Amino acid sequence: MSDGRVDAAEERWARGGTAVSPGIGIGAAYVVGRRRVAVPHTHIEREQVEEEQIRFHEALVATRKQIEAIKAKLPHGEHRQILKAQQMMLRDPDLIQRTETLVRDELRCAEWAVATAIDELQATLDQAETEYFRERSSDIGFLGRRLLQTLVGEKTGEISPPEGSIVVAHDLSPADTAQLHRVRVLGIVTEVGGRTSHSAIMARSLQIPAVVGIDGVIDIAQTGDTVIVDGVHGRVIVRPDAEELDDHEGERRRYDAFEEKIQKDRAFKAVTQDGLHVVTRANLAMSEDIELAIQHGAEGIGLYRSEYMFMNRETLPSEEEHYRTAKAVLRKMAPYPVVFRTFDLGSDKQSPLLKAREAENNPAMGLRSLRLALQERGMFLAQLRGLLRAGVHGPLRIMLPLVSSMRELDDGLEAIEEAREQLIRDELPQSDDIRVGVMVETPAAALIADLLAERVDFLSIGTNDLIQYCLAIDRENEDVGYLYQPLHPAITRLIKMVAEAGAARDVPVSLCGEMAADPRYTWVLAGLGIRELSMNPSAISVIKAIIRTSTSAEMTKLANRVLAARSAAEAEAIVYETMHARFPEHLEHGAGALVASETDGGDDE
Ligand code: PEP
Ligand code: MG
Repeated sequence: MSDGRVDAAEERWARGGTAVSPGIGIGAAYVVGRRRVAVPHTHIEREQVEEEQIRFHEALVATRKQIEAIKAKLPHGEHRQILKAQQMMLRDPDLIQRTETLVRDELRCAEWAVATAIDELQATLDQAETEYFRERSSDIGFLGRRLLQTLVGEKTGEISPPEGSIVVAHDLSPADTAQLHRVRVLGIVTEVGGRTSHSAIMARSLQIPAVVGIDGVIDIAQTGDTVIVDGVHGRVIVRPDAEELDDHEGERRRYDAFEEKIQKDRAFKAVTQDGLHVVTRANLAMSEDIELAIQHGAEGIGLYRSEYMFMNRETLPSEEEHYRTAKAVLRKMAPYPVVFRTFDLGSDKQSPLLKAREAENNPAMGLRSLRLALQERGMFLAQLRGLLRAGVHGPLRIMLPLVSSMRELDDGLEAIEEAREQLIRDELPQSDDIRVGVMVETPAAALIADLLAERVDFLSIGTNDLIQYCLAIDRENEDVGYLYQPLHPAITRLIKMVAEAGAARDVPVSLCGEMAADPRYTWVLAGLGIRELSMNPSAISVIKAIIRTSTSAEMTKLANRVLAARSAAEAEAIVYETMHARFPEHLEHGAGALVASETDGGDDE
């Protein structure tokens, strides 16, 4: 093959990847090639150092302005936040100081110095343990390219896919994805990226079917080729044969019809045939997602992950910022409540703002979450004061994460009391009608749920961590991913215990881990006594639809069979068989909406 792809142009090509946004898209490919900037490697004279530093700083300013111009054309929302984060990266001292050093000490021209500094930053991020930080490496890459284009005076062309196309790219920059707002794109395929990459986040919020991790697709697909994006099973087919096209057209119609059906009822509450109301709320990480929660019919926010306010920035959020953010969310969600979890930083959620600490051997069991907040009292009080002040604008709930003893709970409650007293002294208005609860995400908390329930207004089970700590498996470690078993008897017994402890004291028990978003577990959870489920907004309509067509007797019956099972495998067999038989469409539909479970379609060739 002369150019490596001409001969393959007529052939069908299929691959499995990670489904990051559900739905099925069929359309003509719009291929975005990998764009590289030719970087001159030129040594400069010592007298030119100052001139090069000025060129570098002018390019930083010009790039910031370019991003500002793109941002100004966008509606408010997630997109703006992503571009704002890119502007902030342009002020990153690591990038600026390292580039200046390379120009000054190694006499490199500005382009070469920038390219090296960006490569180094990317290499550090690529080593990060968590997916979130690895994803930021591609953000730095896009920014570096834009900065270099500005320096070499190249045009920074934005993409312009025609209506109805499937965008096929190595990765999409935030500026590229900004274009997707304007035209109706039917699908997105990228070679790299994960669930938290900005292209995945955008695809979900725009409800465009998307699959990432399709290595080699930009060398195979040509603009105009027919492409199928199966965002339910995580598959991509380039140049499908007639039969495949027919099958997927049928599947797309079924998917869209089902989606329309469940969306129609999303504003109704999830009440079973015999009148049991299971409250369905949304989990949010950013206030911009609130529209998504409202759109999907959430009865409030069951988990607001406030730690995201501490990421991608240079200074700590002030009390005023906590107040403004919480006020906006509460106002939009009223009359429904919003559960703000105080910052759950550390372990898998690091922030550059945390004071440099010795690397921990066991970060998941280290100084994180509420433990960290109790040590960083200034940060904690600023957040609590902001939240308490915002409470006058809507039903506010404050939730303390990773509690493992009564002592920690008492210390957390004491901090809330201190924030209250400070506000009284400062004569600032605050709500006197807030509820305080705890996350039950350590086995210890589950085992003392009865004691916790006597001191708090609500409990919320965080199964993501509860499974990690109870089954002793790192939730970030793929090698032990097969042991992550939500139906392990140890987990279902703990959930039941917590539900009973709450019910006995009239304290509501919610569940806000990823289990809540998985339609396979809806009956088991409700049957175990959970009356509130909080999940990723796009899963709400499916879960509501399941509850509405069920009776509490059948849910309890299934939960009892699960409790009698001797192993996770036995419980899974019972649950999957029952749920697949009863809700084939719902389960199929919900697959892509799950954030926690990777849907891997497997390789075809
Ligand atoms: C959990 O642990 O289940 C949870 C909801 O919190 P996070 O995933 O943010 O740790
Ligand atoms: Mg947790």
